[in-house]
Amino acid sequence: MPAETRLFLCLKDNYGVLLHDPDTGATASIDAPEAAPIEEALEATGWKLTDILVTHHHHDHTAGIVTLKRKHGCRVVAPAKEAGKIPEVDRTVHEGETVSVGNLTGKVIETPGHTLGHIAYWFPDDHLVFVGDTLFSIGCGRLLEGTPEMMWRSLKKLRELPNETEIYCGHEYTAANIKFALSIDAHNPVLEARAAQVQQLIEEGASTIPVTIGDEKLANPFLRADVPDLAVDIGMAGEPPVEVFAEIRGRKDRF
Ligand SMILES: [Zn+2]
Repeated sequence: MPAETRLFLCLKDNYGVLLHDPDTGATASIDAPEAAPIEEALEATGWKLTDILVTHHHHDHTAGIVTLKRKHGCRVVAPAKEAGKIPEVDRTVHEGETVSVGNLTGKVIETPGHTLGHIAYWFPDDHLVFVGDTLFSIGCGRLLEGTPEMMWRSLKKLRELPNETEIYCGHEYTAANIKFALSIDAHNPVLEARAAQVQQLIEEGASTIPVTIGDEKLANPFLRADVPDLAVDIGMAGEPPVEVFAEIRGRKDRF
């Protein structure tokens, strides 16, 4: 049977998400921003927490780990390069390694940039990818530890996933990201359509994610740094994509 997910808000604007395998009952929390909302989601679904899959070491992604592990005895999987900064780690993983949640099979994709050891978890059979703070809907993470080169390479790896892949990211930042994106890519009809759709979702009090890789790569300026028209629009015609990416990221930081 296909994987099931449950998405909910944690802290101020973090997303919590549970990934459930109906065949075995195994359930993973992707990151653990805060224990209480994760417990509420487990209670509402009746699912039993077996794993926590950590994307990176930031406190707003790891603060719930100790409490959840004490209660559920779940396994904690974390990026090898950041394991020293994450509590209660049982297994460390690198690029290309496989992570199972019951019978669901995920692959580790290293996506440094926001932090140096950041990883994403891709479940190809279920068309799901959990990207933490590397990629957001119409945005990307700040370069707190890595370089533009690193982040641009990481985003290109995610962009190469199949179009139907659903992206679950770490934060609800979509409305602010769209405001910025329209300031540099105003003539993009796909972005304009997304802006209208997101406005409606927000009015309905609904989540703006997941989004698909196929939709995102047409609308997210951080995935479009190698599109000539966008470089022209920001006055960087013919510049290398990584330079265009760095300029867009810099403008967003100052926006
Ligand atoms: Zn972060």
